[in-house]
Amino acid sequence: MPIQLVWFKRDLRIADHIPLARAAERGDCLCLYVYEPELINAPDHDAAHLQFVNESLQELGDNLRRRGGQLVITTGTMPDILAALHQDVGIDKIWAHEETFNHISYQRDRRVRAWARQAGIEFEEIPQYGVVRRLKSRDGWARQWQRRMSRPLTDAPQKIAAFDISKLSAFQPGPIRTSESFGLQSFDRRQMQAGGESLAQKCLASFLKERGENYRADMSSPVTGEWGCSRMSAFLAYGNISIRTVVQRTQAKIDELKERRRNGTDIGKMWLKSLSSYQSRLSWHCHFMQKLEDEPAIEFENINRAYDGLRENEFNSQYFDAWCQGQTGYPMIDACMRALHQTGWINFRMRAMLCSFAAYHLWLHWREPAVYLARLFLDYEPGIHYSQFQMQSGVTGINTVRIYSPIKQVVDQDPEGHFIRQYVPELVDLPDKHLPQPHRMTGMEQTFYNCRIGVDYPAPIVDHAERYKAARDRIHAVKAQPSTRAASNLVFQKHGSRKKPVSQRANGTEK
Ligand SMILES: Cc1cc2nc3c(=O)[nH]c(=O)nc-3n(C[C@H](O)[C@H](O)[C@H](O)COP(=O)(O)OP(=O)(O)OC[C@H]3O[C@@H](n4cnc5c(N)ncnc54)[C@H](O)[C@@H]3O)c2cc1C
Repeated sequence: MPIQLVWFKRDLRIADHIPLARAAERGDCLCLYVYEPELINAPDHDAAHLQFVNESLQELGDNLRRRGGQLVITTGTMPDILAALHQDVGIDKIWAHEETFNHISYQRDRRVRAWARQAGIEFEEIPQYGVVRRLKSRDGWARQWQRRMSRPLTDAPQKIAAFDISKLSAFQPGPIRTSESFGLQSFDRRQMQAGGESLAQKCLASFLKERGENYRADMSSPVTGEWGCSRMSAFLAYGNISIRTVVQRTQAKIDELKERRRNGTDIGKMWLKSLSSYQSRLSWHCHFMQKLEDEPAIEFENINRAYDGLRENEFNSQYFDAWCQGQTGYPMIDACMRALHQTGWINFRMRAMLCSFAAYHLWLHWREPAVYLARLFLDYEPGIHYSQFQMQSGVTGINTVRIYSPIKQVVDQDPEGHFIRQYVPELVDLPDKHLPQPHRMTGMEQTFYNCRIGVDYPAPIVDHAERYKAARDRIHAVKAQPSTRAASNLVFQKHGSRKKPVSQRANGTEK
């Protein structure tokens, strides 16, 4: 009998997995994961991503086996793998989740659809996020998101009738493959989050039980954010948990807190505020991904073409290298970059600051820094990543221009220097007051604190005040042009959040 083929991609879980549940109801299943060299060798991919995938695959395989199923892993190109399987055993239907990833997966999905059509095989792609395919207008998008997020969760199937893979002849399943087997180079990662469905559930539970109480206050600092942010991003990126599950559990926690408050229990001042902020961010997840779904070109091109030519011809490779290596002479930039090398994660504000520094202080076009951080971020999600990069680089025309001061961020977010000293050991002996600008120390102080500027730790590669002013003037000059404003209105129509006050819509800003 022809098989139900469940194609796992960035949805490595069994709970709330509609394609798996529907396929299991219909017949014998072949659960497939394909290592695709085209994606694995792409510049935005890193060995750490593969490691997270492998940890997730290990658990997925175990979970499927417990239900009678089996995960079949192989390496190759799609749809060639499907064609080989079809020839071998005959496919009745292909089940998968819709995916909004990079240009490679976009082209691959088109090829798979064309092949399935031509082979006469039904291929059903089911949404897993709030991202809407072929969206006509952003009006009413938030309502659609809410509707999707409120749908009942789908239980993992109790029993999966597995196709007997010993019947395969031409098609050869393979093992979980290490990054070395693909020849991937990795950063020296020491403290990375591990992947898998049970860890995703545990992480969410601990956030909603304890860690999330002060989320609103904790999220901005790299010191408190490590614990106080939900840390769900990598689990969401690889689909170890559905976003619907996260949204619904958060709502259940809010309902429970309100009930306790009605019964006279003191629930503290922060919980409800924090969870409300958290809920907004969960919808931003899909709001930003929708931009890439609607306009795949924003992986490469300015979302607002009026900003074309602004930075392209001024790319300074030395600045870029210093930024990548955490050697800019600005302790907060360097600490964040070095932390990313080791952990693959940093909080939102620090990501925005890193991007702003590259775009404004160093005047680098966003594309290369974005690809570099795509590799460093364990939670790399192109829809969020490129949209955020463009927004923080000031090339959307619909967002407030924010230029972060790397000096002020030390004072505001790490006044006692815990984070900086952890990741920039050259500065470990400096008193707190010198951490924002170590280069201001006198020669004598440099000797006292074992840190010679230009020898042990770099002098700033650019002057903050000078570069801040120059960048602000240049970006505002473009923003103010009538042709930019006209283009910004079009960008707003296509991509802007409709949740903003009408006054802001009129001039096309999205703060
Ligand atoms: C330049 C830049 C690049 C970014 N690239 C990515 C990326 O590749 N992948 C990614 O998941 N996030 C990205 N973000 C958004 C955000 O920084 C991370 O989602 C967040 O830091 C992840 O940690 P968390 O799960 O603990 O977040 P929490 O603060 O606990 O938020 C919960 C979830 O909400 C979503 N979310 C939070 N903030 C945002 C936001 N500003 N925009 C969209 N969704 C958000 C994420 O899915 C996140 O997991 C980027 C931000 C910037 C400024």
